[in-house]
Amino acid sequence: MKQFDYIIAGAGAAGLTLAYLLMEYEDREKSILIIDKDSKSTNDRTWSFWEKGSNLLEHLVYKSWSKATVNTNSWSQTYELAPYTYKMIRGIDFYEFMKQELNTSNLYWIQDEILEITDTGQVTTTNGVYQGKLVFDSIFDPKLLQTSDANTILQHFKGKVIRTEKDCFQIDTATYMDFSVDQEGDCRFGYVLPFKPNEALVEYTLFNKHLLSDSEYEHRLDAYIKQLRIKNYEVIEEEYGIIPMTDHKFLLRKSDKVFNIGIKGGFAKASTGYSFLRAQQILERVVKNLISGKKPDHDLPHQSLKYKLYDATLLKVLADKKYTGREVFGNLFQKNGMQSMFRFLDEETTLTEELKIMSSTPIIDFGRAFFHQLGK
Ligand SMILES: Cc1cc2nc3c(=O)[nH]c(=O)nc-3n(C[C@H](O)[C@H](O)[C@H](O)COP(=O)(O)OP(=O)(O)OC[C@H]3O[C@@H](n4cnc5c(N)ncnc54)[C@H](O)[C@@H]3O)c2cc1C
Repeated sequence: MKQFDYIIAGAGAAGLTLAYLLMEYEDREKSILIIDKDSKSTNDRTWSFWEKGSNLLEHLVYKSWSKATVNTNSWSQTYELAPYTYKMIRGIDFYEFMKQELNTSNLYWIQDEILEITDTGQVTTTNGVYQGKLVFDSIFDPKLLQTSDANTILQHFKGKVIRTEKDCFQIDTATYMDFSVDQEGDCRFGYVLPFKPNEALVEYTLFNKHLLSDSEYEHRLDAYIKQLRIKNYEVIEEEYGIIPMTDHKFLLRKSDKVFNIGIKGGFAKASTGYSFLRAQQILERVVKNLISGKKPDHDLPHQSLKYKLYDATLLKVLADKKYTGREVFGNLFQKNGMQSMFRFLDEETTLTEELKIMSSTPIIDFGRAFFHQLGK
């Protein structure tokens, strides 16, 4: 059986970020095996995020926006984001960069399906068995959430990168949430990331518990594009995604040898489903721990109980469907502005700011949901 210092299960956002950080910081004597069933050669997703400064993979940012718009059917506001910038990295650029950077003699990258990972660090694939001194596992099975008593809603979306005949987009302004679309009793919004005056990623997104059929996504996305008064366009790429938004208590340490990372390690923020930037922050600490001989999960950045409760409260309010997304998020953005909401979602607000944010929600129902979560 082949032995490795580190085995990384899954060459996605978390797995490759970890491998990259290990190559940056660790001595190159350590042997690393990356296993993924996929060749990672398509633009299977794009990662967007906001931040104040720059990040580890800044040079991969495909496009950034200094302004963002939030719309409902009754108001529209464009916000200057400074000191934040909204940024996007394309999956394919990330995978290609990692393939180049990780092409070193101590790192092995194989395409194979993982069938089992034991607590002792043994990884069985379709074609082999490997032993890791440490295994980092990012292979997440969403079925886990079906058996959990956690509150889970799905962020699901269909997107198209379109090229329009005429210039239609303001390239410095992203449409962050457009609630002018019919809410159909839950939370639905349009999302537009313009790359050029005549090219943009346009998405139709839902936060609820039920997926649509292919034709339903298609129909609603096309209707949204029409609503933007775009007539003649060609489709360059398509994107479909399901991101769980959940207060499930993810396990970081599975055993002394196996550590969960990425979505599987609970890196995604429950109320946004975003994990890309958080993965960088957490994994940087993991690698520093390894260098200094500590356990990988020693003193990692973690979410305080207060923010866990806020996230769980928002999930419960959305799941209960008493209010549409337009009512919940519309109020939050209109009354607090974008920077304040980003600070809140980055978990950097003061109690005074949080009280102001809470008071801009349907307070009685949020209060009820908050205390319900507190009692869990
Ligand atoms: C379409 C889409 C868009 C998203 N957009 C954003 C965004 O804008 N911003 C943001 O912060 N987050 C976003 N997310 C959420 C999250 O950041 C991403 O899902 C991110 O890729 C999660 O990283 P990960 O490493 O946990 O999982 P992944 O990146 O999904 O990596 C897991 C890897 O495991 C491999 N794998 C699975 N099963 C096996 C097996 N049995 N054997 C071998 N390999 C296996 C997969 O092929 C995959 O490469 C998005 C998610 C999706 C699906």
